[in-house]
Amino acid sequence: MARITLEALKHSYVPEPKRPEDWALKEVNLDWQDGGAYALLGPSGCGKTTLLNLISGLLKPTLGRILFDAKDVSQATPEDRNIAQVFQFPVIYDTMTVYDNLAFPLRNRHVPADEIDRRVRDIAAMLDLGQSLNNRASGLTADGKQKISLGRGLVRSDVNVIMFDEPLTVIDPHLKWVLRSKLKELHHRVKRTMIYVTHDQTEALTFADRVVVMNNGEVVQVGTPIELFERPEHTFVGHFIGSPGMNVLPATRENGGISFFGEKLDVIEDARAVAANGGRLEIGVRPEFVTFAPAGIPVDIGKVADAGRFRIVETRHKGQLIRVLVPEGDGVPSGSAYLAFDARHTHLYSDGWLVK
Ligand code: ADP
Ligand code: MG
Repeated sequence: MARITLEALKHSYVPEPKRPEDWALKEVNLDWQDGGAYALLGPSGCGKTTLLNLISGLLKPTLGRILFDAKDVSQATPEDRNIAQVFQFPVIYDTMTVYDNLAFPLRNRHVPADEIDRRVRDIAAMLDLGQSLNNRASGLTADGKQKISLGRGLVRSDVNVIMFDEPLTVIDPHLKWVLRSKLKELHHRVKRTMIYVTHDQTEALTFADRVVVMNNGEVVQVGTPIELFERPEHTFVGHFIGSPGMNVLPATRENGGISFFGEKLDVIEDARAVAANGGRLEIGVRPEFVTFAPAGIPVDIGKVADAGRFRIVETRHKGQLIRVLVPEGDGVPSGSAYLAFDARHTHLYSDGWLVK
């Protein structure tokens, strides 16, 4: 096992990158602690697979370094890095049995037969493949094949890190839930560093202790699920995480305070920290922290959507949409009303970034 450090890592697929958009990875500095359960979360195209392939050695970085336990492996081959990688679509040998598919990574490394047998049966049981060990892999469903792929990633005990690249894409929704819990359970059992890549916030937040959020070739925040919820470092994180995401509202600085369309608002961050000639100001407040109140920001009530344990109410102030989460059983006013923002959960952003 190893601690993995990325130092000023940049990658471009074009020969002479010049413009910012030439970089698939802009500049990544990260420390993955040994034994951690990480998720790499971001929309399609933000650079997640590029980052994984740099760590595993399938790609060589344009600039920067990758260290395993402080040793530079930037130019090492994938074999020398000793990593297990599970890809988005199953990679298996159709003509082999399920058993042989699972045993393959171990036989390749000359693991003794009795240990191979023990590990293959252990992993097969975990993935509910125990009954089909002697079947040919070609006969399996897409789900079954991806389970083998996962099993091949998990079967070795000597890897530095196990990386999963959107491994549940082809899996049906119910089994997705089962496998996600199994991976989490397995992490607790083996305490191996795991990096789980996904564009799905639910998968990321349930699997990982720490989530690395990426957008546009950059890491925008690394944090626990609670940190990402309570203190998004960037409006993108506020938007992307949460359902619905954070309300991001235009703001101005007036008389040393912060206003939203002339309504003065209390925010956590110090408005004085915003440079006088500073960038675009915004307020971020999650729908969970907005309530109907006897006085406050006047709004018109729009659509009300039922979301199980609460309702999502769309309101508008001077045309600006503000979503409110109302717990089940609480009333929703009709026509017009006033909103209050919980000041302990109202943040200030400048050009997208949390003001500090
Ligand atoms: P993700 O896995 O988050 O969807 P990728 O790492 O696959 O993102 O892609 C990041 C960016 O790099 C995208 O703009 C994508 O089009 C580009 N890209 C990915 N692979 C290649 C490649 N082999 N050649 C050229 N551009 C690529
Ligand atoms: Mg990808």
